[in-house]
Amino acid sequence: MQIEEVKSTGKEQRVATHSHIRGLGLKPEGTAEAVAAGFVGQETAREAAGIVVDLIKAKRFAGRAVLIAGAPGSGKSAIAYAISQELGPRVPFCPMTGSEVYSSEVKKTEVLMENFRRAISLRVKETKEVYEGEVTEITPEETENPLGGYGKTISHVVVGLKTAKGTKQLRLDPSIYESLLKEKVSVGDVIYIEANTGSVKRVGRSDAFATEYDLEADEYVPLPKGDVHKKREVIQDVTLHDLDVANAKPQGGQDIVSMMSQLMKPRKTEITDKMRQEINKAVNKYIEQGTAELVPGVLFIDEVHMLDIECFTYLNRALESNISPIVVLASNRGICTIRGTEDLRAPHGIPRDLLDRMLIVRTAPYTQSETQIILDIRAKTEGLKVAQDALEYAAEVGVKSSLRYAIQLLTPANVMAQIHGRDEIHKEDMLETGDLFFDAKKSVAIVQATESLFL
Ligand code: ATP
Repeated sequence: MQIEEVKSTGKEQRVATHSHIRGLGLKPEGTAEAVAAGFVGQETAREAAGIVVDLIKAKRFAGRAVLIAGAPGSGKSAIAYAISQELGPRVPFCPMTGSEVYSSEVKKTEVLMENFRRAISLRVKETKEVYEGEVTEITPEETENPLGGYGKTISHVVVGLKTAKGTKQLRLDPSIYESLLKEKVSVGDVIYIEANTGSVKRVGRSDAFATEYDLEADEYVPLPKGDVHKKREVIQDVTLHDLDVANAKPQGGQDIVSMMSQLMKPRKTEITDKMRQEINKAVNKYIEQGTAELVPGVLFIDEVHMLDIECFTYLNRALESNISPIVVLASNRGICTIRGTEDLRAPHGIPRDLLDRMLIVRTAPYTQSETQIILDIRAKTEGLKVAQDALEYAAEVGVKSSLRYAIQLLTPANVMAQIHGRDEIHKEDMLETGDLFFDAKKSVAIVQATESLFL
């Protein structure tokens, strides 16, 4: 099994919407700061989530789940994400919506199983020789094209690395350039370069770069002391699902007919139960040898009322397993019918036996000033400049329609500002963008008013 070469298949887009959240922002005694770790307000829910984190860390949460009940956009998935952040660095977070289990091609329980495995990592530790420090320069050295053609080629890349002891210039192979670009390394970043493979890892920035809300503070690292060349424990995280995908082979035998038929089909890989069992066996071996450990993360299932009785039965059983992630469910429904039953009604559409296992946390609606701070943080994270009156107006919109809608307007409003030759969003850009893109409430009102025009 090639653990090193596996690339993560995480659901990046949906995690990126919470990139400003770095944790629950609690004081050591467990009470919530009004604004901390990128989190604003929602104090009661954050404090409750803090207790959940304590229970998980004390290993007293086995077989249980959390249910977060609250209106859309009230930060339910942000809380689930913050729980994963609190559990430690690089703990996996896998968000999904209940309706994702319905697909014509894949069994419902298979979709759940896949997401369970996305939420559990295998952490492999190895000691490697590395060059480590803060980047002071990246200078490609060019020579004439050796084949005599036009243009120049890069012969070496000079990378300056600074430690607490001083700065050293490394003249490295040109292939390093691509790795530096891939990791988005720039001057001021702290990186390490593996001596043998030349692979580059961005560790974070040096702490000279604090911003107003202390965004990404977790990523600030102290400058390494000592020489740039040192031994370092290199940690590699890979989810069980990544391992499944990497080991799944296209179906069919190696004879010419089945190879031809594979050419005709899209190269679909199938992850079988048997293969998963084999991977579990290999994983257990790594763990027994002490070269790896399992890191359970957070599986977040939004709109949990969309799951049916078959899924709930599966969930109930999966929670019993000793390699289960922390399951956080979310709902904005009251009493409703459990899907897949005749007319069995239950709170949030969740069967009572599962509900009994849950700790329930409620999220409250945001005030206008909280909404404004969230929008300000979000704009800063996305690198957008917003004028004060535009921000105030966006907060109004957030309260009237939804926080998510207000957040979503920021990027197109920035495009609008650029069209007007500005690099700052003004209130008029927000107004103009709001006229172009409708929020859900306005859209429903229009549909209702003009019902006869629709098919
Ligand atoms: P839905 O039920 O519609 O999925 P939700 O309750 O899960 O909504 P989120 O997706 O967590 O809502 O919130 C919407 C956006 O607002 C996200 O980008 C989230 O990170 C951000 N956000 C929500 N609450 C807060 C908060 N209290 N502080 C900072 N950011 C927040």
